[in-house]
Amino acid sequence: MEQKTDYKIGQIVELRKPHTCDNKNQRWEILRKGADFKLKCSNCGEVIVMPRGRFNKKIAKIVADPPKPETKIDIDEDLAKIDLR
Ligand SMILES: [Zn+2]
Repeated sequence: MEQKTDYKIGQIVELRKPHTCDNKNQRWEILRKGADFKLKCSNCGEVIVMPRGRFNKKIAKIVADPPKPETKIDIDEDLAKIDLR
């Protein structure tokens, strides 16, 4: 069964395995949630995308809540294209 935890954009989470850039860093920021989750490595800034089912298996715990309540900005590609209308 899938977990129904409500993850938030901007939340810092810890995965079970560290990123290849640093064997101590397991912290990732959630950039996008949905059918696919977009995560940014808090150490090197690399962005990865994984299906929700895989994310649910890999997540160890939530480290920190987002600084602001539920950001409305949907970050598109690598923080590069923020639409300021
Ligand atoms: Zn990394």
